[in-house]
Amino acid sequence: MKIDVLTLFPEVINMLRDYSIVGRAIDSGAINMKTVNIRDYSTDKHKKVDDYPYGGGKGMVMKPEPIYSAIEDCKGFNSRIIYLSPQGKILDQSLVSELAEEDHLILLAGHYEGIDNRIIENYIDDEISIGDYVLTGGELPVMVLIDSISRLMPGVLSSEESYEIESHYEGLLEYPQYTRPRIFNEKKVPDVLLSGDHSKINMWRQVNALRTTLMKRPDMLKELKKPGSQLDLMESLLKLIGKR
Ligand code: SAM
Repeated sequence: MKIDVLTLFPEVINMLRDYSIVGRAIDSGAINMKTVNIRDYSTDKHKKVDDYPYGGGKGMVMKPEPIYSAIEDCKGFNSRIIYLSPQGKILDQSLVSELAEEDHLILLAGHYEGIDNRIIENYIDDEISIGDYVLTGGELPVMVLIDSISRLMPGVLSSEESYEIESHYEGLLEYPQYTRPRIFNEKKVPDVLLSGDHSKINMWRQVNALRTTLMKRPDMLKELKKPGSQLDLMESLLKLIGKR
């Protein structure tokens, strides 16, 4: 997948190149990431990229012309152009999976008070938010998006790191995980995980994925209860752990 990032701070985005699994995804070519400095498209002699808001008010707004030129320069026939914005659709695992199917993403990071609205209205396909709070710039949201997408790219995660059993992938949180030592500060690892009996371990994991979801994110179980969902399995597991 090709990802072009339009930003005033390419050096921040480029830190991903040295970062763990995402860095591996970029190295291997699973993600072909390019950073584009919006300032390079300013025709102003001082390379200005922002200006005062019409109508008055605090802060500065990113000017439309350099952003437009940067988009035009990167755009191909199959590009999906995304502005990271606190006003956008909230990112979740199903949106990440949808984006991971695209051939080319153009990710625009705003700064200051945001960008001229004519860009949003006329040249952006989606606005995506990473949560209902406001950050100073779109660079961290861009990095969140690239990290979440890259781990879904074929060949990026090894079979031991598979994403299919992780939280959110199938509408539940993941079961609790433990590693050595067996006893830590007098707290033991659940016996079943040491039993070697894989069907029992699987059952324990299913039950405890459900228990964890019920305790930490009961709202997610309402989603699971939609028609055609894993309702029967869920009801029987809930009975099993004494919640019904
Ligand atoms: N004035 C804007 C508003 O109230 O909607 C907020 C601008 S914010 C200070 C600057 C930039 O940070 C935005 O252009 C956007 O790219 C990014 N940003 C801030 N919070 C974000 C969030 N929750 N999700 C995605 N991007 C965000």
